[in-house]
Amino acid sequence: GFKVAIIGRPNVGKSTLFNRLVGKKLALVDDTPGVTRDRRVHAAKLYDLHFDVIDTAGFEDAAASTLPGRMRQQTEIAIREADLIFFTVDAKSGLMPDDRTFAEVVRKSGKPVVLVANKAEARGAQGGMLEAWELGLGEPIPVSAEHGQGMPDLRDAVIEALGEERAFGENEDEDSDEIAASEVLIGEDIADPDAEASYDDTKPLRIAVVGRPNAGKSTLINALIGEERLLTGPEAGITRDSISVDWDWRGRRIKLFDTAGMRRKSRIHEKLEVLSVQDGLRAIRFAEIVIIVLDATIPFEKQDLQIADLIIREGRAPVIAFNKWDLIDNPQELLAELREKTERLLPQVRGIQAVTVSAETGRGLDKLMESVIKTHKVWNSRVSTGKLNRWLEGILAHHPPPAVAGRRLKIKYVTQAKTRPPGFVVSCSRPDATPQSYVRYLTNSLREAFDMPGVPIRMALRTSD
Ligand code: GDP
Repeated sequence: GFKVAIIGRPNVGKSTLFNRLVGKKLALVDDTPGVTRDRRVHAAKLYDLHFDVIDTAGFEDAAASTLPGRMRQQTEIAIREADLIFFTVDAKSGLMPDDRTFAEVVRKSGKPVVLVANKAEARGAQGGMLEAWELGLGEPIPVSAEHGQGMPDLRDAVIEALGEERAFGENEDEDSDEIAASEVLIGEDIADPDAEASYDDTKPLRIAVVGRPNAGKSTLINALIGEERLLTGPEAGITRDSISVDWDWRGRRIKLFDTAGMRRKSRIHEKLEVLSVQDGLRAIRFAEIVIIVLDATIPFEKQDLQIADLIIREGRAPVIAFNKWDLIDNPQELLAELREKTERLLPQVRGIQAVTVSAETGRGLDKLMESVIKTHKVWNSRVSTGKLNRWLEGILAHHPPPAVAGRRLKIKYVTQAKTRPPGFVVSCSRPDATPQSYVRYLTNSLREAFDMPGVPIRMALRTSD
């Protein structure tokens, strides 16, 4: 877990926030005069985030009367100990000189900060909110510690400040394996915890092209990269013989994993051409988006579906290229048929992008790349906790979970724990008893509500406590 220090001048509401995070019981204890705290950190919870809050409450009284210097020293100790700082200001009263002094100390520490604008429910708090920007600590998160408002946004801000990796780091238990499984074997670029905060189109987009032999992969790759082909050396973290190709598509940097090149090499050694499972897996793990090349004259053979299934299980987003479209006599009929088949055979990625192309003539390749980028954006998408739980309210009102063995299942909240692919945690009363069909319903509904077609969506159920 990580440690949070709540920092700010007296009276901004630090103790109220502290109590809100660690729970009510403790507050009662702590309010009793003369009670000494033997623990300096307290377990706290903000939805699915579990962390410790450093108790700085005692410091203030000792200091505020006579010794501002001591107060500042204690604050510095707390900051040093913390992984994350909740710098708290009072939006109702606006900034005071002390706020700026403390903010300076926090900024100098270089620690990740969430700027908490407390008392945001009060009339006139808007001005204080705007003022808080001046502290140079980023966007103020409006909350009301007293009324428990703004907590979903606070949760999201923590993840943005720390990154997924650290925010959830050591709290991963068996429940989350499902979501974390694909992270294990991915190269460093992909596991980058900062990558998902917002869509970053400056980093090269990693694509792999897979498909059965003769589907037209080499032809497609050559058509895509054309003359600009630039072979770069072995990728870090991938075996020596793998080759990546860098190129630009409409100013967007692309890195393409060239399995075709690998195959050509192996062709020399073995007359028979097979894309081994190993090669396929390596390509898929390298990639963010995987283009599945299907020969439109013989689409959806068993092996095609196995490849698609592997891609989805690895958490990558597939895009289908129906190739050799120039050979098709009845394009409209066939397209309708293929669309129907795609949705039926790959229900886990409802709304998958499927494009007709001719690698030979180059037709449809721009559209293919547009689909790749569109899918990549969805794969990176993040839904705020506030939006998710407003969506959940609607679900619970219109299609609540069923009763199992006479007991109603309860869902408390939903949060997004991961991106790339989107992964959600549903906090509920009895994860094991929740029917798969209901989880599927939630997944589909969520996909729809937040417009996330064609990518795998992970859904993990957890007990709410
Ligand atoms: P790979 O094994 O998947 O890399 O397939 P290749 O790129 O080697 O292509 C296999 C065969 O299909 C070759 O003879 C290509 O010329 C042919 N081919 C590839 N794409 C197309 C296409 O769009 N239209 C037609 N008519 N033939 C194609």
